[in-house]
Amino acid sequence: MHRMGWILGDRMVYFAVSLLTFGFCIWHQEESMISPKFQDRNAEFIPTESSAPVRRKRYTINPMGFKWDHLNLTYKIVQFPNTLNKEDTAKALEIAFRMWSRVSPLTFQRVHPPQSSDLTIGFYTFNHSDCWVSPLHPCFDGLNGELAHAFLPPSGEIHFDNHEFWVLGPSRFSWKQGVWYNDLVQVAAHEIGHALGLWHSSDVSALMHPNATYTRTRHLALDDIRAIRHLYNFTQNGSLSHKVQVKTHYVSSGQSVTFSCKPKMTQPNQKIRWYKDGSRFQFSAPDLDMSSPGNLIVQANTRTQGRYTCVIRQGRVLLGGKSWNLRVT
Ligand code: ZN
Ligand code: ZN
Repeated sequence: MHRMGWILGDRMVYFAVSLLTFGFCIWHQEESMISPKFQDRNAEFIPTESSAPVRRKRYTINPMGFKWDHLNLTYKIVQFPNTLNKEDTAKALEIAFRMWSRVSPLTFQRVHPPQSSDLTIGFYTFNHSDCWVSPLHPCFDGLNGELAHAFLPPSGEIHFDNHEFWVLGPSRFSWKQGVWYNDLVQVAAHEIGHALGLWHSSDVSALMHPNATYTRTRHLALDDIRAIRHLYNFTQNGSLSHKVQVKTHYVSSGQSVTFSCKPKMTQPNQKIRWYKDGSRFQFSAPDLDMSSPGNLIVQANTRTQGRYTCVIRQGRVLLGGKSWNLRVT
């Protein structure tokens, strides 16, 4: 069982920290640098528009515009880490979710397996889920290196590397054990941002900056807040300006509906990929006719109900995409 999606791996920058005094070198990654400024992990600082200077946008929303079509999201933890107890793991994740819910219209409610949820969190070792077979899903790399990765909506999968040492508290190097302790709240908050639909920001103060930990960022910056509010159409006075836009088609059983996704005329070598509920399909199937380029014809029935997405790619570059919900009446 797996769901395919668009993965945001946080393996952007690897850097070596030379500890010359001790004559050795460790490899460490963007999201696990020590944060000496971090003292009060429960303090939640929310910058406001009025107190901050005007800045230009640095955040990036995923170019397909993928986001959740509802705001009351649920999450569950399906696998816990070896290095942090269940209670502290749950607490760290709760703090991370609260960082986003405090500044956006989104709410996050924890549910327990086997209940279904929007967001699914697990701590895994090297090989997990579909990472061997899916080119879009890297397997983990053991201690250090990649700490975590997440998939865009509507997947909602957030994976943490279980070979890392996770803590509820500031990231720091443990001289006793010779490993980095990684601040789960900070890494989780960054990954949750991806799972909500945000890409990286070029604002060095943003939590969604690829080197957020390296730059000692731990709280949401104004740029992060603007990003999530923009994506979910949340205005400054706290109301929703308009509905989240994934069009739902209500079709009676046996009728057909056509979803169209046309490539941009000016660009050569474009490929259109189709997904249902996050899983890609490449060939026509009973009830799914993709014989006409750019069109998907779906016969409505209980099997075909769900979320359809097309993505237009040119090589590795994503040019655009669309999503629709099909509800059978
Ligand atoms: Zn990231
Ligand atoms: Zn994974």
